[in-house]
Amino acid sequence: MNKNILRNVLVLLLYWGLALSTELLAIPPDYATPVWPAAGVALGFVLLYGRMIYPGIFLGALAANVYTSFNQGIDITQQQVSFAAIIGIGAVIQAAFARFLMARFSLLPEDLSNGSQILRFLVVAGPVSCLVNSLNGATMLGLFDIVPWSYWLSNWIVWWVGDSVGALVVTPFLIQLFNRNPQQERNLQTALLPISFLVLVIASFYFVRSLEQENRRTLIADIGQQHEAVLRLNINELKVILAAAASFFTASDAVTASDFDTFCRPLMQDHPSVLAVQWLPLIEQSERGPFVQALRQQGYHRFEIREIGTEGQMLVSRDHPRYLPIAYTHPFTGNERVHGLNVLGLEHRRGDLEQVLDQGKTLASEPLTLVQHQKSEISYIMAAPSYEYTGTRVNGVVQVIFKVDQVILRSIRDPAFLAAIRLLDVSDGGPPVTLYEGEQAGQKAEWYTVFEFLGRSIRLELSATTAIMQKVSSWQSYAILIGGLLYVALLEAVLLTMLTHQRYIQTQVGLKTQELALAKDVAEKASMAKTEFLASMSHELRTPLNSVIGFTHRVLRRSGHKLDERSRESLVIVERNANHLLGVINNLLDISKVDLGKLELSVSEFPLDEMLMNARDQFLPLALAKENTLRLDCQFHGMIQADSTRVRQIVINLLSNAVKFTAGGNITVSLVDHARNGIAGVLLKVEDEGIGISEKDIGRLFNKFEKVGNMERFNPEGTGLGLALVKELAELHGGAVSVCSEFGKGTTFSVWLPQRQVGVAAES
Ligand code: ADP
Repeated sequence: MNKNILRNVLVLLLYWGLALSTELLAIPPDYATPVWPAAGVALGFVLLYGRMIYPGIFLGALAANVYTSFNQGIDITQQQVSFAAIIGIGAVIQAAFARFLMARFSLLPEDLSNGSQILRFLVVAGPVSCLVNSLNGATMLGLFDIVPWSYWLSNWIVWWVGDSVGALVVTPFLIQLFNRNPQQERNLQTALLPISFLVLVIASFYFVRSLEQENRRTLIADIGQQHEAVLRLNINELKVILAAAASFFTASDAVTASDFDTFCRPLMQDHPSVLAVQWLPLIEQSERGPFVQALRQQGYHRFEIREIGTEGQMLVSRDHPRYLPIAYTHPFTGNERVHGLNVLGLEHRRGDLEQVLDQGKTLASEPLTLVQHQKSEISYIMAAPSYEYTGTRVNGVVQVIFKVDQVILRSIRDPAFLAAIRLLDVSDGGPPVTLYEGEQAGQKAEWYTVFEFLGRSIRLELSATTAIMQKVSSWQSYAILIGGLLYVALLEAVLLTMLTHQRYIQTQVGLKTQELALAKDVAEKASMAKTEFLASMSHELRTPLNSVIGFTHRVLRRSGHKLDERSRESLVIVERNANHLLGVINNLLDISKVDLGKLELSVSEFPLDEMLMNARDQFLPLALAKENTLRLDCQFHGMIQADSTRVRQIVINLLSNAVKFTAGGNITVSLVDHARNGIAGVLLKVEDEGIGISEKDIGRLFNKFEKVGNMERFNPEGTGLGLALVKELAELHGGAVSVCSEFGKGTTFSVWLPQRQVGVAAES
């Protein structure tokens, strides 16, 4: 498949998947998603692959928004799809805008090389570019009537913060992950740190959110319980009215209709929920005639005991063994229609009323829509027995009829709560009856309680409406999520800075290393050429020089006495200078051999103390000539394995320097047994009281051709090769040289040599 199609599918899936998974982070009250990482996906991929990705972003945003509406139980209408499409276009424009800004200000990922650039990149990727779709989205929510315009500002802020934080976290991450880079492995490793922080942030968010939810549940229960208490208090007041009316009849043997009115009027004034208070005397068949007469005499001229006909019309009651007719009713106006109605004849009330009459119970009817009221308002009829004056015989029933919604309106003044509650009659033996349902009370109750009311079970439910949730919501989890994610973004920025910086340094180091390797190669070749040249030159010079020395020596020995004084002296000078030159050439040759790695030791066993004695004898005349003493202090008398010629060279070079640089002082040569790092060895010291070496020169002492201090005076013929050779020769033996000197006081050179040579068969 085409690469671009694949990338678009990837963007679509990532965008959609992230949009779905962010719903897990939704926060009450309105369960909005606080971060929108999909914004980062859009931007990240546009930066990586350019405008070929636009279709994927558009479809991803469209799918995510349609799905969100669907998931919230909103019907997918053409309007919903249009809204989602406009948001999709906004997402594309947002990503394109960010890319444009980054290109304009050289902030594209490949340009990023320092901290301040990365910071500017993040500002453009997050807060700046995310202005586009947040403004678009908040406005569209208003235009499409999805959210009221009054929420425009808060919607815009939540949208903007969510997109910005999402982009800040995801964009650098994607760039770090997908950007072509030879060090993929390191990229993954550095990506792990922000990922683990991300996990930590989300875990803390969940934890705090669950605490908040728990807290919210308690708060909602508190609110619910408070309202339940008020509601029950108000219902109790109605029960008190019922009890008072019943006692009124027990307290008097001849309560007239007008007594009853006088008694009820003040009660009713205070309780608008009460529709009527009624008295229903218990009338035996034998008492029917006199009872009807008595009421007619009280002014109700057309009074009859009645029943309801098949078509709902009021008829004169047929004969029954006993009747319970509505005799007094307050107020009378509005209740005329039921005046005289024998409620024992009503199928749905008979059971309750018989319990009241026969068992003396106080009961509430099932919820009713009353005959005398047109509107479908739900009412309860509470019924209590009334007793004969001074007696215990039940002589009738007192009823209080009240409208449920009025009780609720009187009890609950908080409109938010009123809109969120639902009251149900859930008594056994019947389907639940809705007594009251607030405008926003949904199907799912956040909290409920069931209480008893005169034999009925009443359930009070509280739904999690926006208003209720706002009362109990808290911002902690939101703050943790946004704050934590900003921290992750910052961490990524730091890592990205470090990574780009490191990449820059690596490139520079690579370049410099190449240059240095090249320079070293050239220098080594030049040095080799020089060394080889010196070696061959020295060799070529030595042969003629040897013959010059040989011939001069022979002439001086055989015919010296025949020459005149001046010629003889000249020849002596020739011989001395030729010898010095030979020494220099020999040193040069040796140094060259060492450099070329051609100097090989010929190891044998010999007594070093004897060699030192010979050297002392050789240098004694020279030392005395400069008024020096020359002392030998040998404490080691064993044999050592070494190249005796080279060791002798070491001793001679050191002794000649000591004599050269000392006048009128003591020179001491010492030899002791001295193990080093567990290896048996000897320590040879040549100590003088000569001119000394200043501290700054000591470091250069063993360099080739290096003369230090004021040497033109003390050492005009020196070449600066002697000590370099001493060092090389000692090291060839596995030994070491060190120096210790005080300017103007004297110098001590120490040479340590091992007693045996490793892996070398000694020649005896
Ligand atoms: P050179 O042939 O010039 O003596 P060396 O390598 O033997 O070369 O010595 C290098 C320099 O070290 C000398 O020129 C001198 O300045 C200093 N030097 C060597 N030995 C002594 C010493 N015993 N006292 C003071 N300076 C010394």
